[in-house]
Amino acid sequence: MDIINRGPGFAHLTQDATLPDYSTENFNSLPAHVWPKNATRDADGAVWIAGVKLADLAAQYGTPLFVVDEDDFRSRCRAMADAFDGAANVHYASKAFLTVRIAHWVQEEGLCLDVASDGELAVALRAGFPPERITLHGNNKLDQTLDTAVRAGVGHIVIDSLSEVHRLAAIAAQAGVRQEVLIRVTPGVHADTHEFIATSHEDQKFGLSLASGAAREAVLAAASYDSLAVVGLHCHVGSQVFSADGFVLAAERILTLLGQLHAELPNQQDAKDTLDILDLGGGYGIAYTPAERPLDVAAVAEDLKRRVRQAAQARGYETPRIMVEPGRAIAGQSTVTLYTVGTIKDVPTGENSTRRYLACDGGMSDNIRPALYGAVYDGRVVNRTVAGTPVPTRLVGSHCESGDIIIENAVWPDGIAPGDLIGVAGTGAYCFSMSSRYNMFRRPAVVSVKDGQARLMVRRETVDDLLALDEGV
Ligand SMILES: *Cc1c(COP(=O)(O)O)cnc(C)c1O
Repeated sequence: MDIINRGPGFAHLTQDATLPDYSTENFNSLPAHVWPKNATRDADGAVWIAGVKLADLAAQYGTPLFVVDEDDFRSRCRAMADAFDGAANVHYASKAFLTVRIAHWVQEEGLCLDVASDGELAVALRAGFPPERITLHGNNKLDQTLDTAVRAGVGHIVIDSLSEVHRLAAIAAQAGVRQEVLIRVTPGVHADTHEFIATSHEDQKFGLSLASGAAREAVLAAASYDSLAVVGLHCHVGSQVFSADGFVLAAERILTLLGQLHAELPNQQDAKDTLDILDLGGGYGIAYTPAERPLDVAAVAEDLKRRVRQAAQARGYETPRIMVEPGRAIAGQSTVTLYTVGTIKDVPTGENSTRRYLACDGGMSDNIRPALYGAVYDGRVVNRTVAGTPVPTRLVGSHCESGDIIIENAVWPDGIAPGDLIGVAGTGAYCFSMSSRYNMFRRPAVVSVKDGQARLMVRRETVDDLLALDEGV
């Protein structure tokens, strides 16, 4: 089975074929395509990121702790901008991971920012992110959120239903604004990835169906309002995509719709002139384990742009302006979660076999993805090099769920001991942003590192924070 195309969500199905070679020497390495760009292990065995020793951060800020390599995050912003002909065509999907400082990095790198809720919008605006570079998404936007966005002057709003066309038209008219919008289309293309994170099946909550004519109807409805300017069509085929094929197929189908619309809007020259953005969403895949290979952004972008150009030419259309919305591919690899090893148990799994359970001080409250999607991760001891016999190992959390697992199937040296510091790589996307307070855990702190300096980005929650909303106190 080819796990590279299936994506990490499925790697657990192929565990026997893909068990990594965790001989001791390999266990003490740091695969460069999985760990942050500036991660290194020194001669004493301690791991550093961007000149900051992880054990020192754990001592200062406690664990669990998210450590973000600023240069890694920013360099991926630049790589995306280069691949897609300019930062203005790249929207960082903030739901992957958003703080005020992250918004500043995205702003400084010249990218646009996608938000999908009133909260994400509020953080972006509080960060001073230029509103004209913000795009608002969401399948069920509140009138209040639309109103705030329109009045703040957000660049684009991606309309997700026919009723939203009418609601937004009225809100924009009331505010005296001509709002630029895209229509979200479900082209019936879904990425070959885990079903729970694929979003372009027809039978799902997002967007307007291309096949049924609902998308066309919404564009025509929007074009009939003076308060709306339809500037493009949008789709998002899924997550952890590893080739251009899914994007191209979606683009081809949407181009066909664009052509029909240009023919159907004969008296609306304005609408025809501006309807030229093809926003292909996010989903660019990253490697979570050494066995996987990240998507080559530059190569896929070239392939995608060339094939969209050809598809447009074949239909006799202008080549649309391609926009993309990567989240994971920008944030994912920048971050490592640090945990302290606590209880260790050797649990019998058969006549002559055992599995070593390493319990760490976090778990599904700071990383729900293994439990939610069967996601896989790479972990290493980061305070020292470890020797010993490789044994089947499972890294688990401290929550009251047997599914509270961070790494399900590892083979790690048996020399790992309580008090060791484990780093789990690739946790920059959809970990902190999906974190919870389950079991009354306090959300971890987040620290960013750059050029030997560490800066607290989000402080750790306290018991007072837990109780702050409790009116019974
Ligand atoms: C989630 C999402 C993205 C980002 O997806 P990644 O897999 O993180 O790149 C982009 N656009 C839309 C509309 C999304 O819902």
